[in-house]
Amino acid sequence: MFSLRMELRKDPITRSWVITGDDVPDASPRTDSPCRFCADATTPLQVIASRTEVEGVPWSARSVVHPLPLYRIEGEPSRRGDGLYDRMRSIGAHEVLVENSRHNRQLWNANDNEIEQFLRLAAQRIKDLKGDARLKYISIFKNHGVNAGQEFEHATSQLTATTFVPRRVLYELRAGRDYYEKKERCVFCDIIGQEERQGLRVVELRGDYIAMCPYAPRVPYETWILPRVHESSFERSALSRTGGFRDLASLLRRTLQRIRTITEEFHLVLHTSPNTIHGSESLGYWKTIDEDYHWHFEILPILGAKAKSYTFKEVYYSPVASETAVKRLRDAKIDS
Ligand SMILES: [Zn+2]
Ligand SMILES: [Zn+2]
Ligand SMILES: [Zn+2]
Repeated sequence: MFSLRMELRKDPITRSWVITGDDVPDASPRTDSPCRFCADATTPLQVIASRTEVEGVPWSARSVVHPLPLYRIEGEPSRRGDGLYDRMRSIGAHEVLVENSRHNRQLWNANDNEIEQFLRLAAQRIKDLKGDARLKYISIFKNHGVNAGQEFEHATSQLTATTFVPRRVLYELRAGRDYYEKKERCVFCDIIGQEERQGLRVVELRGDYIAMCPYAPRVPYETWILPRVHESSFERSALSRTGGFRDLASLLRRTLQRIRTITEEFHLVLHTSPNTIHGSESLGYWKTIDEDYHWHFEILPILGAKAKSYTFKEVYYSPVASETAVKRLRDAKIDS
């Protein structure tokens, strides 16, 4: 757990913000008893809950304020200089997205309706928080396993809303824009097109969604899930469609089952378009974002001894080629 003495500092070379302070996070998941996230727990800081059709269960998925938030919604970022450096207070939002009211109903063993409810709840939170012009980016992620930094035993993901765009997303946004400037096409659509034609790295196609291993993986068995039809914003996909999102829920569940035949520990992260109410200092204001960016999930499995190495490396080392990884994932024995 982090203390509240954290602040944001900008790396002047890479121009990326980091959250920093003296405390280090506690590595083991918290085992509250009774569990604070289970259906019958009284969590006063509920933000939003989704309806459920299951009898005796009050909600299907819900969002609550993180018990020890890294970011807080009150106040102004108070951005200030420190010589050549920049720093600001950690203004934003930090929520726990409870995936299911039942303790062990995870994204790989819940039913597709429950997973769809969770995805729509996540989308609703992104949409709501994007209404706050101070917030530049909303991240949704799940850390599962001790080496992944899992915090709670209950089936949960987390949301952070920040006054800056995280580094990895910033790289993707810039790269997507550069590619579009040259070719007037979305780089992700081009990747999907080529992968579907070649069939070398496709894990599974399901309706409008594809699961695939990237050409240049950062970790073994890295897998992405993307919509096959262009869309920059996850929440727009989630909240505008009526039927098709069930396929995404199903593909996410099946892909996590495949990953779990390799390792139980992984990071899952959603990459979607940033808040475009105002231009940002690092991205400027540009009109093609809806054309040049393409939302997706990334799954980064953690394989034993190699777990800690990749976060420190400048050049990722991945000892399993995606063409090999995809075979094992495709052939994995999973539920229907
Ligand atoms: Zn629980
Ligand atoms: Zn696209
Ligand atoms: Zn991404």
